[in-house]
Amino acid sequence: MEPDRTEGMELPERDVWAAMLRGWRGRCPNCGQGSLFRAFLKVADHCPACDEAFHHERADDAPAYFVILIVGHVVVPMVVAVEVAFAPPYWVHLSLWIPLTIGLSLVLVQPIKGAIVALQWAWRMHGFNPDDAEPLPVPTRQPVQRK
Ligand SMILES: [Zn+2]
Repeated sequence: MEPDRTEGMELPERDVWAAMLRGWRGRCPNCGQGSLFRAFLKVADHCPACDEAFHHERADDAPAYFVILIVGHVVVPMVVAVEVAFAPPYWVHLSLWIPLTIGLSLVLVQPIKGAIVALQWAWRMHGFNPDDAEPLPVPTRQPVQRK
């Protein structure tokens, strides 16, 4: 928790790299203790340890973009290198690169999403900045209002 402050007071800097490392590990960017996720790719509304709000996050499709960027830059050179060196039949390519691509993507997507949410938190993007005039997204676990 950050100390109380009066309006107009400068917000304290947040350590971007420490926050992103915590997010990469699936931990709260604020305290590093509570889990950032409530499911594989569902970000929790609040940290269970320090109660920091996460429902402001808007990672959107940035995690998928970075996963494609990284996995593509790992797998494509390997495909080319194996093709140039051994020219194996296509079934060998398929049985190597499809599982590798899917596996790498599944391994990377949660840490990358955690790091992106933590980056948004550290830079006080969207609702993570209490002074932001942007309307705040509603937490997903609020009770449903029925008439
Ligand atoms: Zn926390």
